[in-house]
Amino acid sequence: MKVFKFGGASVKNALAIKNVATIVQQFASEPPLIVVSAIGKTTNAFEKVVALAHQQKDIQPTLQEIQQYHTQILEQLGITDPQFLTALQEQFNQVSMVVSKIEDYDQCYDQIVSKGELLSSMILHHYLVKQGFETTWIDAREYIITDTTYREANVDWVKTKSAIQALKKILPTKIIITQGFIGGTGKTTTTLGREGSDYSAAIFAACLNAQSVTIWKDVPGVMSADPKRLPHAIVFEELPYQEAAEMTYYGASVIHPKTIKPLANAGIPLRVKNFDDPGLAGTIIHDCKVDKLPPLIVFKENQCLISCKVTDYSFVNEQQMSAIFDTLSKHDVRINVMQNSAISFSFCVDFREIKIPNLIKALSKTFEVYYNTGLTLITVKNYDAATFDEYRTRPGVILEQSSRSTLQVLVRV
Ligand code: ASP
Ligand code: MG
Repeated sequence: MKVFKFGGASVKNALAIKNVATIVQQFASEPPLIVVSAIGKTTNAFEKVVALAHQQKDIQPTLQEIQQYHTQILEQLGITDPQFLTALQEQFNQVSMVVSKIEDYDQCYDQIVSKGELLSSMILHHYLVKQGFETTWIDAREYIITDTTYREANVDWVKTKSAIQALKKILPTKIIITQGFIGGTGKTTTTLGREGSDYSAAIFAACLNAQSVTIWKDVPGVMSADPKRLPHAIVFEELPYQEAAEMTYYGASVIHPKTIKPLANAGIPLRVKNFDDPGLAGTIIHDCKVDKLPPLIVFKENQCLISCKVTDYSFVNEQQMSAIFDTLSKHDVRINVMQNSAISFSFCVDFREIKIPNLIKALSKTFEVYYNTGLTLITVKNYDAATFDEYRTRPGVILEQSSRSTLQVLVRV
């Protein structure tokens, strides 16, 4: 069996959802398991709801916008079943309830933002049934079992595997539709990190020993750069797992970073294909050797550069570095690039509201801390002479680092 993942853009309006049905039709002889993301930019909109709630502002206008967006799609798809519409309404009602009950930001976030995937999967399922497909909707929270690390939950593989394997009974005859991005602890909803639906697809595939995973996207495959930024970007025909994993580490958003490992371990190929042109070959990520890859350029936005300066004219020593790493680990923050000098240790991290200000506060107890936000980290992997020069000499570079294969520059934009 195959696992398909449809991202937000592939279900962003009624036409897109109809296109999903067309793609699924082509594979109906062997029913796939379908993992779907929230419709369009719904996750961002729900994130806004969480932020507003946290600031004790009115969430209703934003919630209504999300609801209107979904309602419009339902109308265009001709979905009018009152029972179904009530079930969708219930999801929105629950958001208001959560806001009034849960104080912890990240916990509240997961309960609210997960609604995006619940709504999209319900709509896709309902539409496919209306079109005559044999489909079953399942709640991913009962299959992807995690701990309570909200917004970045860790999978309990033993429980997850045994839950997912029960699906083998259904799959030969029915298409299964489920949510990406979300999991459950048995008691509460968790999420796997932004863009985590790819990872969900990989989890289902690994536990079912699937033949392959296909991620359907709005690009023709994995590209050497974001084509919106660099129109000359090329499509990779094939990539080794290792190369793809490294790309995601540097922030290539085409695949979620955690996706590759479970697939590589199980030897399951990952295809990235274009939903607008399913006939195109796309990219296959699998066990292979590619001699010389062209430079790959990744832009990671919303970076924060933090510098910890020692205050007593001594130099940064190992104990101090160890204290910094300890604080980072306690705050669950990952370093994207780091550099040290005699009296300061600097590192760049993804900026995250609440989390990073808290980290800075903690570090300020021991160090004089300076920071800049709104930066972009550009990574050039497999650089050649031309790209090496081009990116090092860009205006606004505030930190630069290179190894034999990889150049990284942090720039003000
Ligand atoms: N909807 C979630 C997000 O936008 C998960 C995903 O799309 O993969 O981050
Ligand atoms: Mg997405």
